[in-house]
Amino acid sequence: MLLVVAALLVTGAILFTLLVRQKDLPAPEPVSPVEHLEERKARIYDGLRDLTFEFRVGKLSEEDYQRTKADLQAELARVQAEIEAVLKKAPAPKVAPPLVPAKPEPAGDLFHCPHCGAAFERPMKFCGECGQPMRGGEA
Ligand SMILES: [Zn+2]
Repeated sequence: MLLVVAALLVTGAILFTLLVRQKDLPAPEPVSPVEHLEERKARIYDGLRDLTFEFRVGKLSEEDYQRTKADLQAELARVQAEIEAVLKKAPAPKVAPPLVPAKPEPAGDLFHCPHCGAAFERPMKFCGECGQPMRGGEA
């Protein structure tokens, strides 16, 4: 009796999945570059859940259960790695770096280091930034 109920539940779940899939198909939108992978992952999770269920109701031997579970988990790891690889390659929305001018060019009578461009209010023999002698630095 339990087996019949389980079989009915599984069949129902499959039918439901198929029906939902068909309804969803007309509007396929590539939302994310990993969407199909996420879908695969979800299916593996479903498979693991079904597997555990079937094991619990006694449809599978411990050995079959462990072996299939290991297979599914290995596939899950592969899909997960693929997702991470895709996400790493994909142009993720980057935070714009702050616009800092390469060389500060402050206005006014500042003394600039000819080597690194650092500006100083007083003339100096040596640049306080890079330590190089500043040509125009002699007072
Ligand atoms: Zn310098």
